[in-house]
Amino acid sequence: MTESEIYTETRLVEMMHNAGVRPSVQRVAILSHIANLRKHPTADEIFNDLKAAYPTMSRTTVYNSVHVLMDAGLVKELEIESGNMHYDLAPQPRHSHFMCRRCRRIFDMAMPAVMPDAVSGGFSVDTVDLYFKGLCPECIE
Ligand SMILES: [Zn+2]
Ligand SMILES: [Zn+2]
Repeated sequence: MTESEIYTETRLVEMMHNAGVRPSVQRVAILSHIANLRKHPTADEIFNDLKAAYPTMSRTTVYNSVHVLMDAGLVKELEIESGNMHYDLAPQPRHSHFMCRRCRRIFDMAMPAVMPDAVSGGFSVDTVDLYFKGLCPECIE
């Protein structure tokens, strides 16, 4: 989770090729939004942010594309808020998330290294999701 990492269109298209996803213009735009803006958007937010630049994009296109990208392992769901699914780029180093209860922004945080050690007894861990909630520095001001 390098803060300055930028996912160029070329890189995103290559990631989609490797994952077996056809890189349509709209899918690339949606994946770029998720990968580069780091807002952990909902599908509605993606739609609202992109509709001006892609007038033919519909809400349904966004939902369908996000699900295609999820099935391909490029996007993951964050169940940080009930009833509102947020999305993050999947191929990233493990990290946790902090949601500010006032401005509703979601920030990337470190993942404590000992987390997987909490599971013992022959269980095999696929994913670890850790969510913090509270106030961000700006909202504490
Ligand atoms: Zn805040
Ligand atoms: Zn994240």
